[in-house]
Amino acid sequence: MTTFETSLQWHNRAQRIIPGGVSSPVRAFQSVGGTPRYFVKGEGSKVWDVDGNEYVDLVGSWGPMIVGHAHPHVVGRVKSAMEKSFSFGAPGPGEVLLAEEIAARVPGCERVRFVSSGTEAVMTAVRLARAATSRNLIVKFAGCYHGHSDSLLVQSGSGIATLGLPNSPGVTPGQTQDTIVVPFNDVDAMNQLFAERGSDIAAVITEATPANMGVVPPLPGFNKFLADISKRHGALFILDEVMTGFRISQGGWWGKFGQEENWTPDLFTFGKVIGGGMPLAAVGGSAAVMELLAPSGSVYQAGTLSGNPVATAAGLATLELCDPDLYTVLDARAHEVGSTISDALTAASVEHSFQQAGNLFSFFFTPKEVNNFDQAQEQDTSAFAVFFHSLLEQGISVPPSAFEAWFVSGALTDHDVEKISTAATIAAHQVRLRSN
Ligand SMILES: *Cc1c(COP(=O)(O)O)cnc(C)c1O
Repeated sequence: MTTFETSLQWHNRAQRIIPGGVSSPVRAFQSVGGTPRYFVKGEGSKVWDVDGNEYVDLVGSWGPMIVGHAHPHVVGRVKSAMEKSFSFGAPGPGEVLLAEEIAARVPGCERVRFVSSGTEAVMTAVRLARAATSRNLIVKFAGCYHGHSDSLLVQSGSGIATLGLPNSPGVTPGQTQDTIVVPFNDVDAMNQLFAERGSDIAAVITEATPANMGVVPPLPGFNKFLADISKRHGALFILDEVMTGFRISQGGWWGKFGQEENWTPDLFTFGKVIGGGMPLAAVGGSAAVMELLAPSGSVYQAGTLSGNPVATAAGLATLELCDPDLYTVLDARAHEVGSTISDALTAASVEHSFQQAGNLFSFFFTPKEVNNFDQAQEQDTSAFAVFFHSLLEQGISVPPSAFEAWFVSGALTDHDVEKISTAATIAAHQVRLRSN
C-alpha cells in the first residue's frame, strides 16, 4: 500500500502521469503556489488530507457538498442504489423523481434533461437556443464561466462588445466567431449590441450571479433587463445556475431573486448541488424549447451515463435535505464566516472588498467594489496567496484562487467558525506584514 505517501509525494507521482498532476486546472495551486493537498476523507464540515491534517472545508467540492461530507442520509441512499447496479444505460425511476423535484422547485423547468457535467448542460442549452431561433450568435459576459465547451471559452475583449477571441489553443476562430463577449453589469453595451445585431442573436447566457471571477452580484434589475431585452428581440435567455442552483435557495438564485421580479429564463442549467457530489447536471426550461430535444425533436443530445441511478440517488437525497431550514442556516453561516474574515482583514488594515450573493461570497484584495471582470483583475492576487496559505496552514481549506467563490455547508459548527476567526486574524496580519 502507498497510503504512507505525503501530498508532496503523491503530487510528484501524479505529475508523471496526469498533466499538471490534476484532473481540473485550479486544483494545481498554480495561482497561489505550493503543493495541492491530496484529500482522502471528509465528514460533515471537515476534510482530511493524506498527510493526516484536518481542515474546515470552505470549498465543498465547489458547491455540491452543501449538507457536508458523507452525510448519512445521502450515503445510505447511494449505497442502496449502488447495490442494485451502477448503471443500466436505460430509463429509471431515479431520474424521473429528480426531474420532478427540480420542476417543483423551479416551475420554469417544465422539462428537464440530465447530463453528466455543467459543461454539457450549457453546451446543450446553447445548441437548443440556436435550433429554437434559427440564429447563430451567443452573447456571454466577460468573467462568466460556463464550462469548457469550445464556443464559450472566449476571453473578454476591451471596448463595448468585442467579437470573441479564442481563449485556448485548440479552439478555432470559427468555433468562437458566433460568440460575443460583453462586460458584465453593462446595460449600455447590451442596448447597443442589440440595436446593432438583435435579430442575429440566438441567446444571452449569464451566470445567475457570477461566481467564477470571485463573487460579482448582478446590479439590481440586471438579470431582469437581460430577460426582457432577449425576449423583445426574439432571443432566448439562458440562466446558468450550475453553481447557484439549489445552493442560494430552494429554487436557486432565480427562486430567491428572480421570481419576485416576475421574469423566467427560457432555459436553466444546473449542476454541482443537484448531483450531491456525483457527476450529474441538467438543462431545464419551457416545454416548447425542451421538446426540441431528440427523440421528441431533432436537436441531438445523448449520454451513456446520463441520468445514472447512483448519481440521481445522491442528488435526490441531497435535495431532500435542502429545505428552507437549511437555507436559513447557510445564509447565517455565510454571513458569520464572511463578515468575521472581512473584520479580521479590516482590523489588519488590509484593503479588500467582501462581496456576497446569497450565501456565496468572496474577497477581492482591492479597495473598490468589483462589478465586472476588468475590476476583478485589478486585485492583488499575491496578497490572496499569502492569505490562502496562512489559512491552509491553520487548517482552513478555501479555494486556491482569488477568482473563486467560497462555500459554506450546513455542517459547519460554532467551533469551526471560531477556528476560522482565529485563523483569519493571523492570516490577515501575515498579509499586512508582507505589504510593509
Ligand atoms: C462549474 C460551472 C460550470 C461547469 O460545470 P462542470 O460540471 O465543471 O462542467 C458551468 N457553469 C457554471 C456557472 C459553473 O459554476
